[in-house]
Formats: sequence, C-alpha cells, structure tokens
Amino acid sequence: LPGRNSDQIRKAAGHAALSVDRDGAARRVERHREGRRLTVRQGETGVASIEVEDGPAEKVAAAYVRIDREARALKTGGETRTLDQLRADVALDLLLGGQGGKAERAEVFLYMDLFTYLGVKDGPAELAGHGHLPATLAREIATGAGTVLRRIITDPLSGQVLDLGRDRYRPTAGLDEFVRVRDRECRRPGCHRPAQACDLDHAVPWEFGGHTDADELIDLCRRDHRLKDEPGWVYRLAADGTLTITTPTGQSYDSAPPPLHEPRPAEEPPPF
Ligand SMILES: [Zn+2]
Repeated sequence: LPGRNSDQIRKAAGHAALSVDRDGAARRVERHREGRRLTVRQGETGVASIEVEDGPAEKVAAAYVRIDREARALKTGGETRTLDQLRADVALDLLLGGQGGKAERAEVFLYMDLFTYLGVKDGPAELAGHGHLPATLAREIATGAGTVLRRIITDPLSGQVLDLGRDRYRPTAGLDEFVRVRDRECRRPGCHRPAQACDLDHAVPWEFGGHTDADELIDLCRRDHRLKDEPGWVYRLAADGTLTITTPTGQSYDSAPPPLHEPRPAEEPPPF
C-alpha cells in the first residue's frame, strides 16, 4: 500500500474482492440494482430535485454522456446559461418529451386566484406536491409557451371545488379529474404525493354499497392505498369530504380536502 492514495487503494481492494469472490460479487450487483428508484425532494421555494438512485451504472453513465453532449452543443456564443444550468435544462427537457422522447404534455396542478393571475394582486400560488410559490413565478409558469389553463370554480365561502371548466386541451374532464383537482395530494394526513401520481379509491368498497361518485372517491398514493386494505385499518368518508382513518391501534385521524383558498366572503373585487 505505501505510495498509493486512498482512491487507488479502494480500487485495488475492489479488484481483489472481485477476483476471489466472483459469485458473491455478482449477487451483490444484483441486490444493489434491485434497489433502483426515482426520488423527488422538495427544495427551497420554487425548486425541487429529481434523482434516479442506484440505477444500472452503464445506463446512468450513458445518460450523463448524452445530456452533457446536448448541453455542450447549446453552449455557443450567445448562450448565457452555465454548463451546469444547461445540463439540468436538457435533462428535464428530455424527460418531458423534448428532443428525447415522443412529445407528450405533462400536467401540473398550479392553484392561484384570478386576480393574482391577472397581476392585480400578488397572492401566493400553490403547486400541488411542492407547496407555495410567489405570484411572479406562478404567473411565469401560467403564461409560458404551450401552457393550457382551465377554469375551476370554487365556493367562495369554503374554498372547496364546485366545478371544473370544460375548456382545455383534452376534453375528458370527468369524475376522476374532479377528485384529483379537489384532493390535490394523497389524502393520508402527512403524505404529499401529488394527485396525478395517486390512485382513486372508493372510500366505501363496492361490496358495501359504494358508488362511483365524487362523494365516495378519494386520492390515495399507491403505498397508502395498499395500507388501506390491510386488516385493522378503517376508512370513513363523510358527506362533506372529511376522511377519518382509524389505525389498527385505534387512533383516529381526520383529513378534509384542502380548500383551494381561504374563505373570502366579504372581499370586494379590485376595480379594473
Ligand atoms: Zn400517500
């Protein structure tokens, strides 16, 4: 070992281990690869991170080379973005169906009131699964190229969703979308998976007289959906949308669908 730095020692040790225990090494690779997953971390206001963890090393390396190549190709005279910024932009663009895959629209739920959208007010907006965004950023997203908006009517007293506008790019507005827009995130208290990534579940199972009705459907992420069907867990949905979850140990938790905004009964619309 004398004369070698820690990197070289690690490499030599890895090589030695592979040489004497070939079967064990193969099994470890298999096990490590089984742990691959995609994680999203919410960062400070307006930023988040997405990461493929423990993906196959050769695919990750190839993906990085591709992203890096596209980013460097963009780094011409007039480009002001740094290489780091370009790589991040290229990676997201590829994931969202840019130069990489087939073009497909991605949908996000961004909530803001009309006056903020129009620039008359600067109320905070909310991005489902992330949290609040400043009005300027929300307007930038809402007015971006290719953005399609839809109207949602809320009860001004309760902030609850009453109706979805039909004017949007894909006219399939239906019950499941209503439930997703209303619930925004998984309905288990403390879980923040965005509604688009959730299952719709019958709070009252079919065999006990459940119907496919907004009053009886809730958003649950796959994990919490599975948990619900475990013995000992009881889910009750009240007529006002409040969900009561009772755990096997007898503790109860209530969760109401989040109002889209604070009640605002007395507010005068600002003059235009
Ligand atoms: Zn959940």
